[in-house]
Amino acid sequence: MQKSTSRRYAVTGSATGIGAAIASALRARGDEVIGVDIHDADIIADLGTAAGRADAIRALSARSAGGLDGFIPCAGIGPHVPDATLIPRVNYFGVVQLVLELEARLQERRGAVVLIASESAFNRGYDPRYLEALARDDEDAARARVAALDPDARGFVAYGGAKNALLRWMRHHTGALAKRQVRINALAPGYTETPLTEAGKSGPQAEAMAKYVASIPLGRTGKPRDIAAAALFLLGDEAGFITGATLSVDGGSDAVQRPDRVE
Ligand code: NAD
Repeated sequence: MQKSTSRRYAVTGSATGIGAAIASALRARGDEVIGVDIHDADIIADLGTAAGRADAIRALSARSAGGLDGFIPCAGIGPHVPDATLIPRVNYFGVVQLVLELEARLQERRGAVVLIASESAFNRGYDPRYLEALARDDEDAARARVAALDPDARGFVAYGGAKNALLRWMRHHTGALAKRQVRINALAPGYTETPLTEAGKSGPQAEAMAKYVASIPLGRTGKPRDIAAAALFLLGDEAGFITGATLSVDGGSDAVQRPDRVE
């Protein structure tokens, strides 16, 4: 009997924006997608809470008996949310805890993880105590640190710091995952047109955002399909020797703004 070519992926944040674009690109080629979101998904869960994460992990593990070919933890909230202490909960702990818990399912199919970081991860000078709290998996301390930050900068520091910590976390876990033949890579999108960026257009940072958009070297903003195309590449067999890498999908912004940042 011919082996089925349909693959199975889990995507968080599948309801809108980048996660929805990744889910629909995978489904369009005949793959199975298990979507997780706080609304409009196969599995409804709040990844900002420990109980919600536990529910999501239970439901995902149950629905992926036989293994996962890939996991894309895309759920996230932007710097503009009214309560910035939610940012590390969703954007960091809602990612790393799920990756660790789904490791066995990924190992079953030599699966791949694609994290969604951000160009903002590459900025320097994020609060070291916040980064340390994230690195030692201390959610309460990370939230407390965000609450103590200057209110004007709080959202951006919480957001970019969480993305920076996520990339560090990836690099620290790449070796252990490789031993299980699980690859892990990250995308660092620049400004991408989604509900997340839409929300920022009316906020206090609207002017700075417009200036940033005008500076994008390729002369346009990103679309969710741009990010989805890169995610599908990193998930695929063509990327079979790539792990621990971060791919910028930002119209050239990082290279032009930070030409001397070489890894
Ligand atoms: P989006 O708002 O369209 O999508 C985010 C999704 O996450 C939504 O479906 C939302 O319901 C879900 N979500 C939010 N909080 C949740 C929670 N507590 N539990 C479960 N699901 C939750 O935004 P997007 O721009 O598509 O963002 C997707 C990812 O891309 C995020 O991690 C974001 O940080 C990252 N990113 C976006 C941009 C950009 O410019 N849009 C740039 C860099 C990185």
